[in-house]
Amino acid sequence: MEIKADEISKIIQRQIEGYETEIDIKEVGTVTSVGDGIARIYGLDRVMCNELLEFPQDVYGIALNLEEDSVGVVLLGGSHLVKEGDLVKRTHRIMQVPAGQALIGRVVNPLGVPLDDKGPIKSDMFMVVERLAPGVVDRLPVKEPLQTGIKAIDAMIPIGRGQRELIIGDRQTGKTAIAIDTIINQKGKDVICIYVAIGQKNSTVAYTIKVLEDYGAMDYSIVVAASASDPSPVQYLAPYSGCAIGEYFRDNGKHALLVYDDLSKHAAAYREISLLLKRPPGREAYPGDVFYLHSRLLERAAKYNEKHGGGSLTALPIIETQAGDVSGYIPTNVISITDGQIYLESELFNAGVRPAINVGISVSRVGGNAQVKAMKQVAGQLRLDLAQYRELVTFAQFGTELDKTSQAQLDRGGRLTEVLKQDQYVPLSVERQILVIYAGNRGFLDEFKISQIKEYEEKLYEFFEKEHADILKKIAEKKKIDEDLDGAISSALKEFNIKFKEEKEL
Ligand code: ATP
Ligand code: MG
Repeated sequence: MEIKADEISKIIQRQIEGYETEIDIKEVGTVTSVGDGIARIYGLDRVMCNELLEFPQDVYGIALNLEEDSVGVVLLGGSHLVKEGDLVKRTHRIMQVPAGQALIGRVVNPLGVPLDDKGPIKSDMFMVVERLAPGVVDRLPVKEPLQTGIKAIDAMIPIGRGQRELIIGDRQTGKTAIAIDTIINQKGKDVICIYVAIGQKNSTVAYTIKVLEDYGAMDYSIVVAASASDPSPVQYLAPYSGCAIGEYFRDNGKHALLVYDDLSKHAAAYREISLLLKRPPGREAYPGDVFYLHSRLLERAAKYNEKHGGGSLTALPIIETQAGDVSGYIPTNVISITDGQIYLESELFNAGVRPAINVGISVSRVGGNAQVKAMKQVAGQLRLDLAQYRELVTFAQFGTELDKTSQAQLDRGGRLTEVLKQDQYVPLSVERQILVIYAGNRGFLDEFKISQIKEYEEKLYEFFEKEHADILKKIAEKKKIDEDLDGAISSALKEFNIKFKEEKEL
């Protein structure tokens, strides 16, 4: 590195001046170069990795590279204010964010500075941004459901509290929509939701916040936003800050849900920082520790045991793929860290199957334990039926004559696919989901046209709310379908079918 003559003399001068108070030179450094949001510092012999450093004019940075003769610092904004020769002070603090109840309903940036107009955050609680994940002994297996309110997910890819479930798909396939619906569905379920926006357009983030407000979800949600215009170190920090805010709730025996939207952009921000810090690039120019970047983040999602209060932190990371390629570097990494993935496809999305979930390759490896028993009873067969249906559809496209059973399978599959379609912002309670899937599975829909199913579903809920609210209540309370309940549902559905048919014929 080049250090100019007058700088050298300045540094030597300062060293001589500070000869007696040697301590000081170890706590203070000098900027030797600055550019692209990165500053190199001479001095600061005792600085800690990830320590917050103070520059003049209220600019802060984080020490990321501790090298033999210099310290590489990423600047958290205001990098144009930093000049060569500036003094840098240690703060002795590892990066922290404010946490606690006071954050609920707020929009903050990754440094904990409010971005909304609700005034300063009144919290004296701080959480360290980078923390170790809970150990194995302190954890419990996932066992309580985290209902997304989305039929296709709750029925076939159930998520449990403490789980990490990846949402993956190309751009504009409804990834964010699934996460937002899940947040909306947590109303009254005692789950604090934290939406972390990384590298998105400010307008997109603003829209998401508006949706959350409109559906009353901000009452129990926190938004951590680092938009595309924020410097990459701030984007890099965002998921860790969000996680730290969520950990406060987990550690206090509460339940929290974290959405990271999205980690592809997070990895890109980290790549940018690494290249600027001159760390050696590896595959796809990502640094060697990009796996650790996400594994240490996602490992912090956990379900604690009773000794630790029984709280949980569920994570829904989002990854954007290019042309459906899940074998890219970052997608494969995150797939291997999570407990399953919800795979969204453009073809399905464009064909009107929304949410565009490819059931065949979407899995939830641990959520089955947490699924409501009644749902397991009605949906157990669903995944297989749909898989068979998909195969038959391909086959039937060749115009082959089908035998009777295959034709029946085809009809049933088409109706089940229709049943699993769902609009945005209308998460359904488990009872309703169970009801309509039961109807599809037991052939109550077979006598109606596929185009009538949407209306059928709407009327069905109305009918049950009005005439058989007790059945819905029983499903919700018993959480399993015994013989009595089975009979009751079945006869109520028969009654409804007759009514619906009459209405259609009129
Ligand atoms: P991006 O890659 O831009 O982040 P995304 O994958 O997050 O996109 P969304 O923004 O969630 O996708 O959704 C894309 C569009 O599809 C939006 O206009 C949204 O309103 C619409 N959409 C998503 N899910 C549904 C659904 N279930 N029913 C109808 N429309 C939907
Ligand atoms: Mg999105």
